[in-house]
Amino acid sequence: MQRNGKVKLPKGKKVAVNIGCDFDAQSIWDGSFNLTSPAYMARGEFGAEVAAPRLLKLFNQYGIKTTWCIPGHTVDTFTDICKEIVAQGHEVAHHGYVHENPTTKTYEEEDKVIQMGLESLAKIGVTPRGYRSPYWDFSPNTFEILEKHGFKYDSSLMGNDFHPYYPRPVEVNSDRANVFDQETSLLEIPVSWYLDDFPAAEYINGAQEGMNSVNDIYDRWVSIFDYACDNEEGACYTLTIHPQTSGRAHMVQMLEKLIQHMESRGAWFATLGEIYDNFEETKEDKTLISSTHKG
Ligand SMILES: [Zn+2]
Repeated sequence: MQRNGKVKLPKGKKVAVNIGCDFDAQSIWDGSFNLTSPAYMARGEFGAEVAAPRLLKLFNQYGIKTTWCIPGHTVDTFTDICKEIVAQGHEVAHHGYVHENPTTKTYEEEDKVIQMGLESLAKIGVTPRGYRSPYWDFSPNTFEILEKHGFKYDSSLMGNDFHPYYPRPVEVNSDRANVFDQETSLLEIPVSWYLDDFPAAEYINGAQEGMNSVNDIYDRWVSIFDYACDNEEGACYTLTIHPQTSGRAHMVQMLEKLIQHMESRGAWFATLGEIYDNFEETKEDKTLISSTHKG
């Protein structure tokens, strides 16, 4: 059974909310879509030069600390704004080097990508405690590589929706039951495609429609948050935004409205690192299982 738990919240708060800024800038177009024309580079440039400062201003206005998942390539290309993110007290997590897909890499290639990302982050004074896979996917080697490099938490998987948990590698069998291995030492702070701005809002010619109404996105994000408030004690809500997507005018206004709603209902805006630090594993479930078996 999955080992999961709750976030210990400050008094009066109802749900831990992390706003994760996946600061892909130009790296996503190159590393994930193989689109390197001036138009796509301009979109990444917009993210770094215009949108990231706009989001920082919004977070500053509301006194919110967030986690920026930054590929090494973004640090190397847009160093000043990355330094500014650190200077303003936001957390920085590892997010690959050039937004690579880890599932297609050998152990050595993937290990090298992690190393390159660490070296770039070190240039802005960051030793990350957390990792977010650029593809929200793992290779069979990812757990081992992250543990080897001393990461404490990951935020890329979806084995829970409101509660951090310890992920287990799974042996996949198609002719018999799958077999879970032992839990890794990493704490998983789960993400969700439904709490990600990119598929819903970002238009990519011929590849992704995006362009959903901001009202629809707002309604879904609020609905998930309200459910957590009303039904899940010690929940965490992990929102993923991309500066080049959510830093646009229509999106940033919606994000502000969302922050106001969350504030009014008792959100504790925290970094992923703070969620990690305040995680408490739930023990009761195991007792419940064993007594059920006895009965
Ligand atoms: Zn990303």
